Amino acid sequence: MSQPPQLHAVPKWHTQSIAGAQLAPQPAVQPLLRAEGVSLEYRSRAHTVRATHDVSFDVYRGDRFVLLGPSGCGKSSLLKAAGGFIAPSAGRISINGQAVNGPGPDRVAVFQEFDQLPPWKTVKQNVMFPLLASKKLKRSEAEERAMHWIGKVGLAGFADAYPHTLSGGMKQRVAIARALAMQPEVLLMDEPFAALDALTRRKMQEELGRLWEEARFTLLFVTHSIEEALVVGNRILLLSPHPGRVRAELNSHQFGLHSTGSPEFQSAANRIHRLLFDEDAAAPESAAAPVRAAVPDEITVPAAAIAIAAAAGLPVPVPALGGYDAVDAIGRRLAL
Ligand code: ADP
Ligand code: MG
Repeated sequence: MSQPPQLHAVPKWHTQSIAGAQLAPQPAVQPLLRAEGVSLEYRSRAHTVRATHDVSFDVYRGDRFVLLGPSGCGKSSLLKAAGGFIAPSAGRISINGQAVNGPGPDRVAVFQEFDQLPPWKTVKQNVMFPLLASKKLKRSEAEERAMHWIGKVGLAGFADAYPHTLSGGMKQRVAIARALAMQPEVLLMDEPFAALDALTRRKMQEELGRLWEEARFTLLFVTHSIEEALVVGNRILLLSPHPGRVRAELNSHQFGLHSTGSPEFQSAANRIHRLLFDEDAAAPESAAAPVRAAVPDEITVPAAAIAIAAAAGLPVPVPALGGYDAVDAIGRRLAL
């Protein structure tokens, strides 16, 4: 117990900086969100799948912290653990020093899927929903707050529209407005722009940057795109392929959409690519070989259910419910 917190093993290349980038400074302030030696596993009767192994990172207030790694390396699992939906099999995640042991309105998630908006609610009702469900605000205040954020994401004219009438990019804007309206301690985003066309994706990255400039929220952002990581993040945690382990942590605050064509950006991207995929740099350390089994995802919880339950911080056993039933159950319980 008296041992200092176990930081992730720091391989040699961990201390190297990408071309033109400085290593992240060690701020004196306490981290807002902290992952310490987090291993995540999915167990079924026949198999255990280890999604991440001994992952540690610190997210500070105002960070745009990116988890970057190839598909299947456990990024979404880490985000779900930060959201309180799954518990680490080893290690711990804390926020403001308190262990995360369930979802809460202090952590709101935006997912990739366009189905995270209950389709029977208008844009405004969607944004108001978690504000009311979490009892954060009275109806009139919730409406005012919702309209503020709907305006911020450029959808003032669509407040009364239903999700099916919106484009993918507009739906993601609503999800972002809904999340930011909750004023969470940490905004969790899991590949929120991955299903958008390239131009819209770029536009959304730009808008996220603009929103961050205005509101200075703390962001934990998952992507498998190196370019997106450099554009969105001020710090990037590189994870190895399955199971995810920390490869390196890099500072990327100097990059943005303005610099995507620059030689510095390209060389940073190349260096990250090497760190992620170079077998020499990737030699695994001591960890036991993970059990790798081709099991399908057993818990399928629709994005809408997770997003709403997380935002509302409700003690609802979401994984036990299926489809929109989960969202509906929450709504009905609260007579919304
Ligand atoms: P990423 O988001 O980086 O693509 P995930 O966190 O989704 O990775 O998955 C990491 C590993 O955990 C993968 O091998 C995946 O198949 C496995 N996994 C994810 N969710 C489940 C689940 N519900 N049940 C069993 N295995 C899962
Ligand atoms: Mg994922």
